[in-house]
Amino acid sequence: MHNRTQVAVVGAGHAGVEAALACARLGIDTVLFTLSLDSLANMPCNPSIGGTGKGHLVYEIDALGGEMGRAADKVTLQSRTLNLGKGAAVHSKRIQADRQRYHHLMKKTLESTPNLRLIQAEITDIIIEPTPSGRKVSGVKTQLGEVWYCDCAILCPGTYLLGKIFVGDVSYQSGPDNLRAANSLSSALLREGIKLMRFKTGTPPRVRRCTIDFSVLEEQPGEEYPLPFSADTPEDAFLGVQQLKCYIVYTTPETHRIIRENLSRSAMYSGKIHATGTRYCPSIEDKIVRFADKERHQLFVEPMGDTEEIYLQGFSTSMPVDVQHKMLRSLPGFSHAEIMRYAYAIEYDCCDPTQLYATLEFKEISGLYGAGQFNGTSGYEEAAAQGLIAGINAALKLKGEEPLILERSSSYIGTLIDDLVTKGTNEPYRIMTSRSEYRLLLRQDNADLRLTELGRRVGLISDDRYRRFLERKHLIELETERLEKTYLSPAEVNPFLESLGESPVNTGISLSDLIRHPSLGYDEIAAVDPDRPALPRSVKITTEINMKYEGYIKRCLAEAARLAKLEDFYLPPDTDYSAIRGLRIEAAQKLNYFKPRTIGQASRISGVNPADISVLLIYFGKK
Ligand SMILES: Cc1cc2nc3c(=O)[nH]c(=O)nc-3n(C[C@H](O)[C@H](O)[C@H](O)COP(=O)(O)OP(=O)(O)OC[C@H]3O[C@@H](n4cnc5c(N)ncnc54)[C@H](O)[C@@H]3O)c2cc1C
Repeated sequence: MHNRTQVAVVGAGHAGVEAALACARLGIDTVLFTLSLDSLANMPCNPSIGGTGKGHLVYEIDALGGEMGRAADKVTLQSRTLNLGKGAAVHSKRIQADRQRYHHLMKKTLESTPNLRLIQAEITDIIIEPTPSGRKVSGVKTQLGEVWYCDCAILCPGTYLLGKIFVGDVSYQSGPDNLRAANSLSSALLREGIKLMRFKTGTPPRVRRCTIDFSVLEEQPGEEYPLPFSADTPEDAFLGVQQLKCYIVYTTPETHRIIRENLSRSAMYSGKIHATGTRYCPSIEDKIVRFADKERHQLFVEPMGDTEEIYLQGFSTSMPVDVQHKMLRSLPGFSHAEIMRYAYAIEYDCCDPTQLYATLEFKEISGLYGAGQFNGTSGYEEAAAQGLIAGINAALKLKGEEPLILERSSSYIGTLIDDLVTKGTNEPYRIMTSRSEYRLLLRQDNADLRLTELGRRVGLISDDRYRRFLERKHLIELETERLEKTYLSPAEVNPFLESLGESPVNTGISLSDLIRHPSLGYDEIAAVDPDRPALPRSVKITTEINMKYEGYIKRCLAEAARLAKLEDFYLPPDTDYSAIRGLRIEAAQKLNYFKPRTIGQASRISGVNPADISVLLIYFGKK
């Protein structure tokens, strides 16, 4: 049977959900395929959203008109801001999410979105047609023999492609959570010349709550008054809301002894697993081996929702079940613990992202896009960000509009995608604030100021949302101006300063300069600023940070402007770099493979050095 749609999205994980919603909301007829509608937007790993760098991605997804932030706010069990002891640039919101409610909520959102159909079917093949300028995608085939013709297809198969689970010396074909694997699509992609890699990741056991003695664990409460992820969620949505607790437990010398004595039985260490895992989410075996001098490792005991299942973050393992029991029961409070789901490692196929443009379209196959774990990343947030960008660009392509390419200086999403398509990755790529040279500019509190105009341009920001955005922006400008122009005389401010043990001033001081004082902030100076307007917290936070970090921000902006010149220097996509005199062979080969969009991107390709960039600047400068 033959069917037609404009965009076929393969996979309803965190990438596929955002891609499908973006296409459908931009008026494009879209079909979303998934192996199981009952695991749509599933969280096979920790039921948390956000964290260092990842929280920034969620704010950026929301600022562009994506869905993850809105949904996360509705299923929050606990919220905390990490790194509060550090600078504002790395403050990162992280929530504990109700895993089942997130699934249900996302399914309802998809089901009620116009232009969007959900179909439970495995995509086993893609149809690629030759064109005068190369090749293009024209359809996908299901396991049931259906053919869906389409103008674009977005591949978001996550950790399911030839998925294989490992628990000690037992291994079997499977997707995560014992869901079925997708065993046919990989060979079709290889047939079309798409390079695949083999990566792995792992997860800890899920433990029965009533078998844990929480009285001996360290409580980790949520923060008192968290702000939401989404600008569509009222700021005071969490005020007075009861939050669930998380707990902290540490491994013991006994835990370490059990793991060391059974290392050869771990699938990771017995050589059963050949795929590459991520350095930043190591298994507990890895931690014991790599940090042998550490006496104990911190683990987080996290709720997953209205279930007896408890998630033990930091205890991922591929040890056999008998060892998992021993390891677990060696932890304080877990001596009688029962495992509801065993820990495991999973191997899966993903693609080499250097085959993609920054639009996430394959360079060699027009209309075919990749997003999520399939592009070599790890994490719900990383997946959702890519899904959103791939969905937006497929829609813009079909509408004949300019693609959306986010610069590194604009966002972590732009940084993530540029890293993937320009440098590639040889392990599951996880976003971190240290990945951005502009991290002072890319704070979670100003994501809307950086990206909402772009979301509005592509058509995903509603009039009401845009009006509220402009209002917030205006309030920040007004309050900044008021604080800069309001001066206090020494007589007015010195009693306040002396009461805080701070040195008095001899001349008048602006409220903004008071805020810039290392030990003062917007809230602290309220005592000498009685006529201040009642403002939303998010306005105060952004105003204060802009003031306190003004000097750094100015320098970062100047650096970004300097580098932007290289980002605005476009390179013709059909250039034959081996024909450019003075360019080193290695550089020419790399440039012909990567087909960089700009001189800036060319400068980040490993193996292309500054001398090569000078040759390009002269060559294209003359041209
Ligand atoms: C065991 C495990 C541990 C993890 N640990 C971590 C961690 O510690 N930290 C972290 O950041 N991330 C971790 N992750 C990764 C995280 O789960 C993923 O990053 C995220 O789910 C990726 O989202 P995605 O949309 O790319 O793919 P997924 O969420 O995997 O969704 C893929 C979707 O594609 C569908 N699908 C696949 N193939 C086909 C096909 N051929 N036809 C139709 N539908 C198809 C599936 O049904 C599913 O709906 C872990 C994942 C697993 C499995």
